[in-house]
Amino acid sequence: MCIYKKKLECPVCKSKFETTKVKSSKLRVETMDTDLFKRFKDVEEHPIKYEVIMCPNCGYSAIEKHFENISKRGIAIIKENIMYKWIKQDYTDVRDKQDAIKAYKFALYEAELMKKSKVELGGICLRMAWVNRLYGDIENEYKYLDMTLKLYDKAYMEEDLMKEGADEITIGYLIGDINERLGNKKEALRWMNKIVFDRSISQNRTIEKLAREKIETLKSEDVEQEDELQAQAN
Ligand SMILES: [Zn+2]
Repeated sequence: MCIYKKKLECPVCKSKFETTKVKSSKLRVETMDTDLFKRFKDVEEHPIKYEVIMCPNCGYSAIEKHFENISKRGIAIIKENIMYKWIKQDYTDVRDKQDAIKAYKFALYEAELMKKSKVELGGICLRMAWVNRLYGDIENEYKYLDMTLKLYDKAYMEEDLMKEGADEITIGYLIGDINERLGNKKEALRWMNKIVFDRSISQNRTIEKLAREKIETLKSEDVEQEDELQAQAN
């Protein structure tokens, strides 16, 4: 089996619990979508379904990399708004699509309560889009891609991305890619051009390669001309 139980202590209620995880040693990348969603060979469970850690005893939920470093203020907010009203729900076992989405919804709601950065909220929404893509739920995939785009757009303009542990090039690239997915091709091309001319692009060769490929595709689709024709028609 590709899964195991990981022992954790909740930083909010201090209870100990076990949660399901996918063994990273079993993961071999098969393909990667242009928005960096990876698909793996021969694993029954995709790790994206288990990225949210959710304490069954108090309801505190967060993406794994943020789960332990919650501030004192954050703990107080979760106790007040979640823990004291918590009716036990347990998502520590193998998750189906509904369970995975529910865990993400809790993580998103709680991150909003704690006034987390837009880039962090966007990361949660992007993962929710990916879970839906994994199950072929296109309608919900696009709903969450749209939410991600709005949050990343704001984050790019307003936030110190480096301070938030995010990479400006990657976020800019994702804004471009999601714009393309949502049909805003001219905007996608504008972002990809902005990315490849950024001085720090040399530190991120993977993104550079993806952005250059995207520019070629978009140019071959005559995106600029298409938009001009549309403008003339209007
Ligand atoms: Zn807890």
